Amino acid sequence: MLILPDFLIDNPGQPPRRDWGVRVTGAVIDAVAPNDELRRRFPDDEMIDAPGCTLSPGFVNAHAHLYGLLAHGLPLDKAPSGFWPFLEDFWWPLVEDRLDHEAICAATDAILLEMLRSGVTTVYDCTEAPYALPGCLAAQAGVVRERGIRAVLSFEATERVSKENGQLGLAENADFIRACRETGGLISGLMCFHTTFSCSAEFIQQAHRLGEELDVLVHMHCSEGVHEPEYALQHFGVRPMEYYDRLGAANSRMLASQCVQMSAAEIAIMAARGVKMTHMPLSNCEVGAGIAPVPELVEAGVTVGLGSDGYVNDFYEVVRAAFLIHKAHKQDPRVMPAPLVWHLATEGGARALGLEQIGRIAEGWQADLQLVDTRMPTPTEAHNLYDQLVLWRNHTHVRLVMVAGQVRVRDGVVLGADEDAIIARAHAAARRLWSMTVG
Ligand SMILES: [Zn+2]
Repeated sequence: MLILPDFLIDNPGQPPRRDWGVRVTGAVIDAVAPNDELRRRFPDDEMIDAPGCTLSPGFVNAHAHLYGLLAHGLPLDKAPSGFWPFLEDFWWPLVEDRLDHEAICAATDAILLEMLRSGVTTVYDCTEAPYALPGCLAAQAGVVRERGIRAVLSFEATERVSKENGQLGLAENADFIRACRETGGLISGLMCFHTTFSCSAEFIQQAHRLGEELDVLVHMHCSEGVHEPEYALQHFGVRPMEYYDRLGAANSRMLASQCVQMSAAEIAIMAARGVKMTHMPLSNCEVGAGIAPVPELVEAGVTVGLGSDGYVNDFYEVVRAAFLIHKAHKQDPRVMPAPLVWHLATEGGARALGLEQIGRIAEGWQADLQLVDTRMPTPTEAHNLYDQLVLWRNHTHVRLVMVAGQVRVRDGVVLGADEDAIIARAHAAARRLWSMTVG
C-alpha cells in the first residue's frame, strides 16, 4: 500500500519532506521516497492519495492509567487539597481500590477509542488495582488485542495494602511478561512498582532484580509532587532519585514517570545513569503537582516521552500542553519548540519505553503511522509544519491511523469497534464504581 501525502515527517524533530510518501508491506515500512517515484515503482499497489495531509509516526503515549477514565466526572464534595490528599482521599479509595476486571476492561476499551482516534499507535499502561489481582493484565490484554493498538501493560505493585499484596503485584508483571513472550504480537510487559513512600527498599530491589532477570524496564512514579521528596528526606536523608541511586536502582533499566519535583543533583544522576522519564503536563496540573523540569532534563540528555496519565486522552492536547506550559513557567517562548515536542511525542516515547524500530518512518521500521489533515487557514509550509500541527490540530483532523501496517482508524471511525456498545459498557462500569460506598 502506498500513502502519498503533501508532507512526510520521517525523522521527528527534523525538517519534513515535501511530496514524499511511503510504501507499507505487511507490518513494516518498505520504501520511503518522493511520491512520484513511488507511483512509478509500484503502479499496482493500492494508493492512498492524501493531498493536504501530513504523514507522521503515530504518537507514543508513554504513560497512561486506562482505568482513569472511570474517574472522569466522579462525584466529589470538594477537590482534594494537594497531591497527598489527592491520593489518600480520592484516587486510592474512590478509584483504584474499587477496580475489578470488568471495570478495567470496560475503561480500557473506551479509552482506546479516544487514543486511537487522536493518532496514538502505542500506549504504556500502568494499572494499580490491589483488589483486581491476579489476572487483571491478561483480562486487559484481551481488550487491547481486539483494538489492535501496540501496548506495554504493567501492574503497579505496591505494599500500601500489605506485603502479600505487593508480592502478588510483582508476580502479576512477571507472569504477564512471560506470557506475552510466548504469545508474541503487539503487547508486551515490564516490571513496575509504585514509589519510595509505598514500597520498602527490599521490595524495590526485588522489583529491579526481576527486571534484570526478565530483561525488561522497571517503571515507577517519581516525585510527582512535593510529598515524595519530603518523605524521602525525612526517612532516608536524601531525595528519591538519590535514594534509588544508593539502592543501585538508578540505571538504564529505570523508567521514572512524572519527575516533577527534581533537584539539579537528581537530574544529573538521571543523565549520568541513563534513567528514562515520561512527562505528563496536563495531569501535573490536575493534581497541583507543579511543573516538571523537562527543558532541563532534555538539555541534560535524558530520554523523555510524553503521557496522558489517564487524564485528557486527545494526545494533541497533551502535546500542546507540553509545548505551552514550560514557556509560561520559564517566562521564555524559546523553550520546548514544536519540532522537539513532536519528537518527544513520537520517537522520544518509543525510546523511553525501550521499543525498537518504532517512532520514525524508515525502511524496515514498524508501520505505526498517522495521517493528519494539515490544510489550515494560512499556508502550511516545511518551515511552519510542526507549529501548525502542535498548535492548531486535534483528533478531528486525524484521517487515518495505522498500527503495524493495519488501518485502525479511518476518518475518525475506529474500524471493527462497536462504539455504542463500548461506551455503554464504560457508563455501566463508571456508575457501578461511583455508587460503591467507601471502605
Ligand atoms: Zn501515573
